[in-house]
Amino acid sequence: GQRSLGRLRRLASETLDHVPIELQANLELPFELPMVAQSGATGIGLMRSEFLFMNQDILPDEDRQFATYREAVLAMDGDPVTIRLLDWGGDKQSDGPGAELIPNTHETNPALGLRGVRLLLQHKTLLETQLAALLRAAAFGPVRIMIPMVSCLTELIAVRQAMRLVWRRLEVAQIRLPAEPPPLGVMIETPAAALNAATLARESAFFAIGTNDLTMYTLAVDRAVAGTVALYDPLDPAVLKLIGMTIAAARQAGIPVSLCGELASRTGAVPLLIGLGLRQFSMHGGAVLRIKRAVRATDSRSCADLAAAALAATGAAAVHALIDGAAA
Ligand code: PEP
Ligand code: MG
Repeated sequence: GQRSLGRLRRLASETLDHVPIELQANLELPFELPMVAQSGATGIGLMRSEFLFMNQDILPDEDRQFATYREAVLAMDGDPVTIRLLDWGGDKQSDGPGAELIPNTHETNPALGLRGVRLLLQHKTLLETQLAALLRAAAFGPVRIMIPMVSCLTELIAVRQAMRLVWRRLEVAQIRLPAEPPPLGVMIETPAAALNAATLARESAFFAIGTNDLTMYTLAVDRAVAGTVALYDPLDPAVLKLIGMTIAAARQAGIPVSLCGELASRTGAVPLLIGLGLRQFSMHGGAVLRIKRAVRATDSRSCADLAAAALAATGAAAVHALIDGAAA
């Protein structure tokens, strides 16, 4: 119950055999911030910045964004805050006021269209304004900047160039900045990014695996369409292979990798993900203690066999049977 979960707050997030597992929180809307700060998470693994842009009559300017990001940084009191650059387009875009502020609407296939980093690179003012606000917020605590919907290294390099330009601009203007530019990392949420993970890892400060989109793009199933929703399953062996490749590439390059899709909050998947090598999860704040309890009940030594069996399974249903069997 809630009381026994509350007691978990003081206990370490580690497996039975003492492998530390870091648990961070996702932040989607500003009102969640106090809850996230109290959630037992050791940082924000994904702050979705879309809320600043939804249902607005004007685009949020640099100062408005800066104030919002700084508030999150201060609330987390020294724990890292990973803020994602605007992931506009696809399912993110609202139809309310402001939908036309950023002109990528009315695509026949928005999930495959101008979304995430693609849109930012075509609207440099949008990107540079957000980067300026983020660099300024980073003077108040550990900020990490994350790029959505990346497919290849070129996109990361282009954002980094923009970040350097904005940094110099702020320096010249004698704006308060952190000692170093914040770490710049990428979301791994397209099959292309997972397949390119070894290349991306050479230039990326960290990875965050976005299984919500990765599942959709890997299985070619729209997560928002009712008729195919039964086919949408992040436990499909194809998705697990891409997760495994991404974790292996990050380890090889010595960079941190977290998983921040809904899959991270699924209790039954904890041993499987640990078996794939995952050591950092980010999820809805309300799930952190429940996942900590699952972590503390897991022996990492038995997870590798489970992961190997899942990767070789005939389909998602077989993986479900495997993890249910492991939990029994
Ligand atoms: C994801 O795609 O898994 C993810 C975390 O990003 P979002 O759900 O915001 O698309
Ligand atoms: Mg996504």
